[in-house]
Amino acid sequence: MTASDEVNSAVGTLYVVATPIGNLEDMSARALRVLAEVALIAAEDTRHSARLMQHFGISTPLAACHEHNERDEGGRFLRRLLAGEDVALISDAGTPLISDPGYHLVRQARAVGIRVVPLPGACALVAALSAAGLPSDRFIFEGFLPAKQVARRSRLEHLREEPRTLIFYEAPHRILDSLSDMEAVFGPDRPAVLGRELTKAFETLKGLPLGQLRAWVASDANQQRGECVLVISGWEAPQGDDAVDANTLRVLRLLLAEMPVKRAASLAAEITGVKKNLLYQLALQEKHADP
Ligand code: SAM
Repeated sequence: MTASDEVNSAVGTLYVVATPIGNLEDMSARALRVLAEVALIAAEDTRHSARLMQHFGISTPLAACHEHNERDEGGRFLRRLLAGEDVALISDAGTPLISDPGYHLVRQARAVGIRVVPLPGACALVAALSAAGLPSDRFIFEGFLPAKQVARRSRLEHLREEPRTLIFYEAPHRILDSLSDMEAVFGPDRPAVLGRELTKAFETLKGLPLGQLRAWVASDANQQRGECVLVISGWEAPQGDDAVDANTLRVLRLLLAEMPVKRAASLAAEITGVKKNLLYQLALQEKHADP
């Protein structure tokens, strides 16, 4: 246990409370109880959250905790917590801290020994992944891609050979640009799923290879509206012939026509710089295919 894990029981508790991402029925019973019981709710946008609280008949006072004041105003919430009051942290939708404010407050609270309790609930990335049907055993969440194309492409280039499933948030007016860049960098055949307006009336979960998904979104303006999550299959190491470029394969085939498999693989490796073992396996496949 580190110093920041030691909880001071004389002080209040900071509850990190998930709220719905569309469907109000996703508000948990526990979240409703805690939001009604705490002394103060730290909210990303107090006007937005006031409507939500009103819907549920909760009259707890709200105070702003957004990305512009979170560092400075965090002290205000800490003082209330240190004085023994409980505070709940919420964002406009879903789980706080997930592409939303709250990180600095949670960090500061833990640093001074305040107990931080998560109340799990809606989160767009988890909702999308849970229904996408793409590998979910290992995944990475990349949040929002940069708005400018050069920076966006560069981020995608870094992710080109990422084997884990990739999850992105995207704004509706950039969904087509991002899909085009993903198609260019990851290739048109990479399996992808667009999760749009999840939990809402026009919920869409469309799974297609990237090139087809981009064309489908381009052909229907309705798909360029609302909130969206992109789930993209991770990179798969190419097998067999695809594992080497066309020139390497040509060299290997020429040598195979003149000499035994082992020697051809060894010489091709020296000429092209590709691993001997890989070329040997490939050479064996070539021999079987063309006895
Ligand atoms: N904290 C939130 C969460 O737990 O998912 C995310 C907040 S982030 C500012 C907002 C982004 O989340 C949207 O631009 C969209 O990419 C995604 N998102 C939120 N609600 C969504 C929904 N109902 N359907 C699809 N994506 C959603």
